[in-house]
Amino acid sequence: PGAIKVEVKRPLMFLILLNPHSGKGHAHALFNGNVQGMLQDAGIQHTLIITERQNHARELVRDADLSQWDALVIMSGDGLLFEVVNGLMEREDWEEAIQTPLGVLPGGSGNALAASIHHYSGLQAVSSEELLISCGFILCKGLVSQLDLTSVCLASSQRLFSFLSLAWGFVADVDIESEKYRHVGAARFTVGTMVRLGSLRVYRGKLAYLPIENPMSQPSLVDSTQSNPSPLSVFGPTDFLLNPLNQPVPGHWTVVQDEDFVLVVAMYQSHLAKDMLAAPASRLDDGIIHLIYVKAGISRRSLLRLFLAMENGGHLNTNCPHVVYVKVKALRLEPYSPKGIITVDGELVDYGPVQAQIHGSLGDHTCH
Ligand code: ADP
Ligand code: MG
Repeated sequence: PGAIKVEVKRPLMFLILLNPHSGKGHAHALFNGNVQGMLQDAGIQHTLIITERQNHARELVRDADLSQWDALVIMSGDGLLFEVVNGLMEREDWEEAIQTPLGVLPGGSGNALAASIHHYSGLQAVSSEELLISCGFILCKGLVSQLDLTSVCLASSQRLFSFLSLAWGFVADVDIESEKYRHVGAARFTVGTMVRLGSLRVYRGKLAYLPIENPMSQPSLVDSTQSNPSPLSVFGPTDFLLNPLNQPVPGHWTVVQDEDFVLVVAMYQSHLAKDMLAAPASRLDDGIIHLIYVKAGISRRSLLRLFLAMENGGHLNTNCPHVVYVKVKALRLEPYSPKGIITVDGELVDYGPVQAQIHGSLGDHTCH
């Protein structure tokens, strides 16, 4: 076969941010044992920073001189990457900053982006340690792909940037409640799912979305003087598809008739966790929010069957009448209950009305 020669500048300089408490708390040892030698062999130099607290990485990348790094790499779960993405988007030079290549080394208990990237490369699902080695190898190749980012607007006027998911209901509850089982690693989601199935409940609220096939989904067809760009965050792109949260959604959006749900999850990558292939059709930068919701009335048994089928992505082919899957560009969720859990990329955010729009690949990258 003909060889393709790829010119990659060596040595590369990576800044690696490692959360020592992620996963089972062994991230540092896993890095030393599996990744360090690999980087050395690949001719990649790195500076390792062990995070000391939550938001340490976020503040660090917000103020860093990014010109010295060829990539920012996180060794943790999705939560640390969420910090890095948001730190970059909080910069005055966000447009340039977000183009810094990002890398993921799965050291956490929720490693959904790492599992998604491994999946996109056509490889079979593997154990946690093998996933780390696979991602280390992908990282060492130094190739870069685009990555979709979604802006998420909260009732508190805060705007966040998300690379993975927005969840409410069963999935969000499991994600947060299962953090106490972190010592079992990725299995915490299985344990959490079983516990929650025992106390299954209904989540009431209003859901609306803009389907991808709607012609108004195209930026060129939206009158930007009509749409209200959200003044929510100082920097970042304009949410040209969204009305302010205190106004109704645009008339061409679809409003879901059902108001009783078991779960609502919006995803822009394939995996929700290492063994949860929730949106099999999703790609790194397809510019699509894969919206999946389960209506109330589903039996515990059917829900369990659904989660079991999710391991290999079969849950969308089970013809379960309670499951709905739509591809959208934007959505809004207004929970009725005053208290509850909403997660963005697996992280707890302020509870209340929330809306989101996908921005495509903002020029953001991931080492792939
Ligand atoms: P896991 O997949 O194990 O949950 P994450 O990367 O999601 O790993 O990290 C879990 C949480 O810890 C995130 O909210 C992240 O912001 C936070 N965090 C990052 N560094 C630290 C630290 N040094 N100490 C405590 N929490 C941290
Ligand atoms: Mg996490």
